Amino acid sequence: MMKNHEKNPLLLLEKIKTGLRVTPEEALDLYSWDLPDLARAGDDRRRLCFPAEDVGFIIDRIINFTNVCEAECRFCAFHARADQIEPFSLSLDDILKRVEELRLIGGSQVMLQGGLNPDYTFDMYIDMVKTVKKAFPDIFIHSFSPAELFHMARKSDLSLDTVVASLKEAGLDSVPGASDLLVERIRKIACAHKISVADWLTVIKTLARHDMKSSATMTYGMGETQKEQIDHLKVIRDVQDETGIIRAFIPWSFSPFRTGMDHITPATGIDYLKIVAIGRIFLDNVTHIQAGWLTEGLKMAQLALAMGANDMGGILMEETVVKATGITTRTNQEELIVLIRNACKTPVLRDSAYNVVRRFQ
Ligand code: SF4
Repeated sequence: MMKNHEKNPLLLLEKIKTGLRVTPEEALDLYSWDLPDLARAGDDRRRLCFPAEDVGFIIDRIINFTNVCEAECRFCAFHARADQIEPFSLSLDDILKRVEELRLIGGSQVMLQGGLNPDYTFDMYIDMVKTVKKAFPDIFIHSFSPAELFHMARKSDLSLDTVVASLKEAGLDSVPGASDLLVERIRKIACAHKISVADWLTVIKTLARHDMKSSATMTYGMGETQKEQIDHLKVIRDVQDETGIIRAFIPWSFSPFRTGMDHITPATGIDYLKIVAIGRIFLDNVTHIQAGWLTEGLKMAQLALAMGANDMGGILMEETVVKATGITTRTNQEELIVLIRNACKTPVLRDSAYNVVRRFQ
């Protein structure tokens, strides 16, 4: 049964069903709803902005080209640390070999992402993009992150506008939002040397000026309150109102193992499903909500499709950042098709702009 909003249950439910904007206070109230009620509301809202029963996925690969990072975030298990994790940097040949492997399995999107390596010059990033684009013009380069773009600008003493324009000219197609948690109190604890919320917003607005698309993520479960989770969603909704460049929202839980925050108790499956539904309801201006099979597991991701999610993201042929926390979930096209069908949805292979490439009836 519904709880807090019983004082006015129809009002909030009607707002959700009719597509009216939900306030932060109302979104906070949704945490007290029972899961089946929240699922129905999330899926109702999904139908308003994405009426098809399709669930998309893409064949992609993340190439983490260096783990050397001067930010040294406490919540990260990936970056090189003295006597614990060996530093590495991939050569251009290593990167090309990996993109070739992606192409051979029919992949269409690559995510080049690395730590904030103090030894990388801006020319090295430009070379990386140009080399990949020249060798594989059909591969969509959805790469780097707001923190990396900021790092490039700072290190090379260039404006963000120049950085984005130069990367775009070199062949960069879009930039993942990599938002972590856009709450300063938590950032000071978890990633004090990474960009601030204001910096993240500056990058998103710069991308918009250059007609570049992005996405937004949410790494929750780092000791934040439910109100702070809604604060994060509000930052995303507001900037999306202003720019319209966020193609998808991807929430995932923080995995504390092997990080500097391993005292934190991991979020639960119910926490995850609630955040998917609340994200879908609150972010009325974001069309695609991805189910996070990598961090939550394939079966939880399948359940997320009943909470308002409409996309499975990529098959992620290679990934090392989450793997560094000890999570080893892998998948492939065949497995995703079975999972999606089993959820009474139609599996759809899509491209980076969420256009249908192939529908598996
Ligand atoms: S999360 Fe990113 S910026 Fe932070 S330490 Fe890890 S690689 Fe560096």
